Amino acid sequence: MSIDSALRAYRFQLRPRPAQERQLARYAGMLRWLWNRALAEQQARRERGEPYANYVAMAKWLTAWRNAPETQWLADGPVHPQQQVLKRLDATFQTFFANMKAGKKPGYPRFKKRGEEPGIRFPDNKQFKLEAANGRLQLPKLGWVRMRMSRTVEGDLRNASITREGDRWYVAIQTLQPAVLPAADVAPTLGIDVGVTNFAGLSDERLIASLAALAAQQRRLARYQRSVSRKQKASCNRKKAIVKLRALHRRIAQQRSDWLHKLTSGLAAEHPVIAIEDLRVVAMSASARGSADRPGRNVRQKAGLNRSILDAAWGEFRRQLEYKLAAVGGQLVDVNPAYTSRTCRICGHESADNRKTQSVFACVACGHTEHADINAARNILAAGHAVWASTLKPDACGGVVRRAASARTKRAAPAKQEPSEGVTCA
Ligand SMILES: [Zn+2]
Repeated sequence: MSIDSALRAYRFQLRPRPAQERQLARYAGMLRWLWNRALAEQQARRERGEPYANYVAMAKWLTAWRNAPETQWLADGPVHPQQQVLKRLDATFQTFFANMKAGKKPGYPRFKKRGEEPGIRFPDNKQFKLEAANGRLQLPKLGWVRMRMSRTVEGDLRNASITREGDRWYVAIQTLQPAVLPAADVAPTLGIDVGVTNFAGLSDERLIASLAALAAQQRRLARYQRSVSRKQKASCNRKKAIVKLRALHRRIAQQRSDWLHKLTSGLAAEHPVIAIEDLRVVAMSASARGSADRPGRNVRQKAGLNRSILDAAWGEFRRQLEYKLAAVGGQLVDVNPAYTSRTCRICGHESADNRKTQSVFACVACGHTEHADINAARNILAAGHAVWASTLKPDACGGVVRRAASARTKRAAPAKQEPSEGVTCA
């Protein structure tokens, strides 16, 4: 196992109180002033034939300015972001010098106009505190600032940068995540079958229920949509209804994302290599009544989530799982879902008759009975093993290395596999 690490960035909207907003604007204004003042100083030195003053020298100017009576207001702002601005100015100058040397377009640092305020960057996690549970961030001289925690922050906090876009403030938080690369012969340890009544069935016999809140939101969404369509075109009431509808859409997406982040983080932490049914195949083969292979897959959609919301959730689920596994050096293995839901994982008998109902799998050949989603998830895990094995090739030392970054089946039905565990049929 080798240890690597990955930087991750998260971006959240801040919800500062009016007084905090004024403070933020003031601090950003200070940074613009500082950039311009230091740049002017460098130009004056240049004109006097003096050498360029590096960051260390500029940091001394900053200390002097923060103490001088006429620029003492600088000391009202946090010092680290001010030092960061001088570091950035220094970096811009260094690029300029390097370009001059290389005969490239030099790109001399420009003065910053109003509206071009530099970001307020806190370079060290000692300078801020994140309280994710309460959705707030503590910053020097500002205290606790509320934020929209639209997702879970993972890894060790590194730095935070605050920027303004229009009349909104955002914070970008960077974290460092240690990544553990699995050995080449680590095979999938979890199979996932996605569904409608349950969001997913797992090969370790867990059933993940769909987010109940989403179903409720879904009904509200339908009501809001009707409300918009009933209003007269171009009317004030219609505009209001549209605003409400959009806000609900955002809220649903946020809830879904948050819920999925918790789910995928847990799975990725437990299993570096996971087999999942190829959702693109599922999406393609889906029909309103369900195909013979996936009986009744969508029959309850009217009662729960609608198809497009579910598709979005599956897509997001897969996306998150994929990058979280990659972050720990693991991998998601796509398996063709054909026959996985109607093949007995014990004896391999494949028949539509094995699925009496949506949730019960009962093998007509050997009598094995199990929750249908769990049976399917176990088939997916077994098929995942086959896909995984096909991506391995022997290396010179008799071990194996992984051949390709992506593992995917063409049309590998689980077929007749050997019972993988010591389970006996009834
Ligand atoms: Zn059977």
